[in-house]
Amino acid sequence: MTLPSTYADRNCSLARALEIVGERWTLMIIRDAFFGVRRFGDFATQLKIPRAVLTSRLKLLVREGVLTRDDDAAGSVEYRLTAKGVELWPVVRALMGWGDTFYSPSGVKRAERHDRDGGLLDHEGRCQDCGSVVPVPEIRIEPGPGFDPDDFDRDPVSDAINTPRRLLEPITTPHAR
Ligand SMILES: [Zn+2]
Repeated sequence: MTLPSTYADRNCSLARALEIVGERWTLMIIRDAFFGVRRFGDFATQLKIPRAVLTSRLKLLVREGVLTRDDDAAGSVEYRLTAKGVELWPVVRALMGWGDTFYSPSGVKRAERHDRDGGLLDHEGRCQDCGSVVPVPEIRIEPGPGFDPDDFDRDPVSDAINTPRRLLEPITTPHAR
C-alpha cells in the first residue's frame, strides 16, 4: 500500500524510500535480482506472484532507476540492478538478519561469505577472515543452518538460488518469456 503522498511529500527520507521499496513483493524482487534473476519469467516462477503485479513493480523499479531493462534484438528482456539498486543490499541484508533472529529458530537461512577467502560476513558485511567490508560482487550467498529445502519448490530458478553463488551472477535457465 502506497503511503498518502501528503506524507511522503514531507521531509522524510524513510517515507520517500518506502514509496519505492515498501510495497508488497518489491524487496523480494530486489532480493532475487541480487541472487541473479534477470528475466520476467524467472521472477514469476520463483516468487509466484501475479504477473500483473510483477509487471507493475518492475516498471516502478525501472522508472526509479533501481533496475535497468535491457531489450536485445531477439526480443529477450533482462532486468538488472543499477548502482543505485545495488546500494539496497544492506537493507535486504538487515531485514533478512532480523527475520533470522526473530523468526528462524534453527538459525540463519542464508549465510554470506567472502568469495575470495571463504570468510563468513558479520551483520555489517565485514569478512571475519580478512576484516574487509566486502563489496557486493564479492559476496557469496549459501544456505545456512536454518535453511530447509522443503520450504522451496523444485524449479530451476529456485535450485540455482539455493546453491552457493556470488551475488549478481546471472542465473542461466532455459529461456522463459
Ligand atoms: Zn575476506
